[in-house]
Amino acid sequence: MQRKPKWLSVKYNQAQTEEVIQLLTDLNLNTVCSAANCPNLGECYSKRTATFMIMGDQCTRNCRFCNVTDGKPAPLSEEEPYNIAKAVVMLKLKYVVITSVTRDDLPDGGAMHFSNTVRAIKDIAPDVYIELLIPDLKGDEAALDIVMAAKPDVLNHNTETVRSLYSSARPQADYDRSLHVLNYCKRKDKDMLIKTGLMVGLGETDEELLQTMDDIRTTGCDILTIGQYLRPSKDHLEVVEYVTPEKFKYYEKIGLEKGFSFVASAPLVRSSYKAELAFTGSKKG
Ligand code: SF4
Ligand code: SF4
Repeated sequence: MQRKPKWLSVKYNQAQTEEVIQLLTDLNLNTVCSAANCPNLGECYSKRTATFMIMGDQCTRNCRFCNVTDGKPAPLSEEEPYNIAKAVVMLKLKYVVITSVTRDDLPDGGAMHFSNTVRAIKDIAPDVYIELLIPDLKGDEAALDIVMAAKPDVLNHNTETVRSLYSSARPQADYDRSLHVLNYCKRKDKDMLIKTGLMVGLGETDEELLQTMDDIRTTGCDILTIGQYLRPSKDHLEVVEYVTPEKFKYYEKIGLEKGFSFVASAPLVRSSYKAELAFTGSKKG
């Protein structure tokens, strides 16, 4: 196992994160920042921003890179959409990212719950931009239609890794299904910004990564994020490589050349990192 390079070390003042932590506790809300042990939590919470994770903290899948617990999820909370909307107002957010665990146990995968959450936010904070980072919903077009009908400003679905690593990293997912989700959503609403994210350092080759960028571009996806995979614990996949910041810059250049309207590529980039910047950058692009 290689030592973590210095460009991945982050420091933050815990006291500055307490306001957000308290608010989340009071409203009984989860964030992927905490569930996924995101390295940017200190920075994002101290700027009073977070990515809300709806539909519980237990995922019905078990991706080998992900720190979210797998298990039998609890029934959906009817209050959750309103509590998310309240948190958006209390944190004075202008841009919010909402994601979820995968809920393969629900007939619509949780599509209606996503929709209810968007509507609850629009009801009390109509000027807030909303990005949904959705699971693949098993590629079910009726479920995707429900999510799209809620009209988020950005529809994000992570491709995560290259085709050859799906069986080891995301055994319950499917590369082509994820591409289908991106493509279906773009075809459904050409004006909606479509976004996806990749992790590197899992053992993919450069050639595979560039092919994946091509595959994603073919779907019509607008925004791409690329960040370093970090191993959450000894039970997760090992890091095969710590990709250098220079290499990330190279990926950004290549991504832009391939036609993405915005590419965020750096070691600590996550799908929701500075999401508002990617949104405004893409709209200009
Ligand atoms: Fe949360 Fe995203 Fe920031 Fe990580 S990058 S702390 S997941 S908002
Ligand atoms: Fe984590 Fe999403 Fe995989 Fe669930 S489906 S284990 S939340 S990456």
